Amino acid sequence: MGANFTKIDEEFICENCGKKVPKLGYSCRNHCPNCLYSKHVDKNPGDREEECHGMLKPIGIEVNPKKGYVIVFKCMKCGAIRKNKVAEDDNMELIYKIAEESSYKTKN
Ligand SMILES: [Zn+2]
Ligand SMILES: [Zn+2]
Repeated sequence: MGANFTKIDEEFICENCGKKVPKLGYSCRNHCPNCLYSKHVDKNPGDREEECHGMLKPIGIEVNPKKGYVIVFKCMKCGAIRKNKVAEDDNMELIYKIAEESSYKTKN
């Protein structure tokens, strides 16, 4: 919500599934809509100042009363946890699948 948010909306090739991901348009694209993987490149959303560059694996889904579905990512290189709002064209089947799997895990 800060004034110094930099929004970088750009197309990229997903390093996990190889799909070409187009620009999002209404917000900054920060993960692949096909496999939901992201990349650890931001210290703050959109700044691209993180030097880790590890793959962020989607490990869970949270439901935020204001934002809706939020994807929880874990960096496979440094272990950092990142969260991103689900985009309009995200693979909802996969989101439900991750939500289901992660809720199974937290039940035990
Ligand atoms: Zn992908
Ligand atoms: Zn990382």
